[in-house]
Amino acid sequence: MALNGHCMCGSVTWAYSGEITRNLVCHCADCQRATSAPFTAFLGMRPDQLNRVGDITHYESSPGTFRGFCPSCGTRLYFRSDKWPSEIHVHAATMTDPAEYRPDAQVLMRSRVQWLDQLRSIPVHEGFQQAPSTRLR
Ligand SMILES: [Zn+2]
Ligand SMILES: [Zn+2]
Repeated sequence: MALNGHCMCGSVTWAYSGEITRNLVCHCADCQRATSAPFTAFLGMRPDQLNRVGDITHYESSPGTFRGFCPSCGTRLYFRSDKWPSEIHVHAATMTDPAEYRPDAQVLMRSRVQWLDQLRSIPVHEGFQQAPSTRLR
């Protein structure tokens, strides 16, 4: 499987051809905080087969666990942990074509944000809303 991706500003690019070791949505509180998003999705890759180009800054979010991001635009690129030295978890949203992405599993459900259950009943708009909502849900 050949995949590639990049950060928002394009300073960092990645390319991978190899086995996908995990393909999952993570609902853990650390990922929510680190990505400023209700959840994130990862593709597990073999570090020696992942070709990264560009400057990447690492934040140690817990001992032996590092979150790599672009120092220019702040895009989160991956998560890696000394607990899983043969894997690097690349954020699926950084794929060149994230629309191709389909996760296989969801993990850490105990911290899943509860409003995800109501997504289908929340009003939708094709563009950004013209006026701010007056209701706080
Ligand atoms: Zn960038
Ligand atoms: Zn997580």
